[in-house]
Amino acid sequence: MKIKNIIIGKIKKDSFLLEKLNEIVKENKINCGIILGIGAIQNLNFGFYNQEKHEYKTITINKPLEVLNLTGNISIKENSPFVHCHITCADEDGKVYGGHLFEGTKVFAFEYKIFEVEGKFLIRNFDNLTGLFLWER
Ligand code: ZN
Repeated sequence: MKIKNIIIGKIKKDSFLLEKLNEIVKENKINCGIILGIGAIQNLNFGFYNQEKHEYKTITINKPLEVLNLTGNISIKENSPFVHCHITCADEDGKVYGGHLFEGTKVFAFEYKIFEVEGKFLIRNFDNLTGLFLWER
């Protein structure tokens, strides 16, 4: 695989982080890529995947946090581009929270880099063993 394009930008205050990343991916017609980001958020909505129940537990933190790292990817799920991100954040005491990013996380300030990858698309299919949509390869 090769990097085809790099998109760098900011997400404005009061936007929703995952929703906005999905918008940017759709607007730029990216089917396959890598997402990185740092910044600050006003709240955090994320999940922890229960490996026995095969379902996400939703965790909400309602306070300002620094985004130490957001790492994600873009691939194809059910014929559409799908953004999958994990996030690590710290509060004012340096206590760290992290997990699978959900919608509803509100931005204070955010800087992202999206590396569009060319070549064969990564396709997600439902995996019975985990209950997750995983890559074919
Ligand atoms: Zn995840």
